[in-house]
Amino acid sequence: MRSNKVKTAVLRPDSDPMGAAIYDYHKSGNAAALVVHSSMFEDDEIPVPDLFRVYEDMPELERIALDLAEGRILDVGAGSGCHSLALKKMDKTAVAIDISPLSVEVMKERGVDAHEVNLYDPSFAEKFDTVLMLMNGTGIIGTLENMPSFFARMKELLNPGGSILIDSSDLRYLFEEEDGSLMIDLADDYYGLLDYQMQYRDVLGEPFDWLYVDFDTLAFYAEENGFEIELVAEGEHYDYLARLTPAL
Ligand code: SAH
Repeated sequence: MRSNKVKTAVLRPDSDPMGAAIYDYHKSGNAAALVVHSSMFEDDEIPVPDLFRVYEDMPELERIALDLAEGRILDVGAGSGCHSLALKKMDKTAVAIDISPLSVEVMKERGVDAHEVNLYDPSFAEKFDTVLMLMNGTGIIGTLENMPSFFARMKELLNPGGSILIDSSDLRYLFEEEDGSLMIDLADDYYGLLDYQMQYRDVLGEPFDWLYVDFDTLAFYAEENGFEIELVAEGEHYDYLARLTPAL
């Protein structure tokens, strides 16, 4: 069941599969399979070493985002802290937040200014010049219904003149026929809305909504919610990096 209310809590350490994988890899240089279950697809795996990527190994869109990030930077859903650490190397100032207690522990050990905070928790009341959301950053928005809450929250977090750098992909290729037409049932939910549940060893997380959103749909919601949008760059496979700035 989908709930309309945006969650503001962090994860319990015993239902934090991705954090457990990040923790193992940090401690031992090894990790078991981090499995992603979804009702829409076969089980998939996230390669845990990829979560520890360095600037040189990052997809181009992420490198562009790191190059553009300026001022006081908020790394949202920071995971192992890979982007915050790359920013630190570039002498930029990043604050990392994540709902995963184990990830935050690892980030602290790696020298990241990391906090166990849910993006939507209003008690986190700091201000930033750049909000960075990477590796399908729109995932954390969860659903299209959450767009207004997301943009309202961003207005609270951004300094005047600040902006969000966020990446996503248009999942249309999953539904495309050979002739280019789309096999999408318009009565269904938006095609980029996935339900995910992660598992690492015997640690099973709670199911959650994870949104992939095409640029035009994101642009529609940005405008509805008082933001300007710029297509910064496009990747090789339906992916893109966008900059969102509150409209004056
Ligand atoms: N940005 C990292 C990790 C991406 S995975 C990277 O590129 O490698 C997404 C991360 O977002 C996970 O670590 C998850 O715990 C975190 N997350 C999910 N919802 C969140 C929320 N509402 N607030 C903060 N972090 C969140």
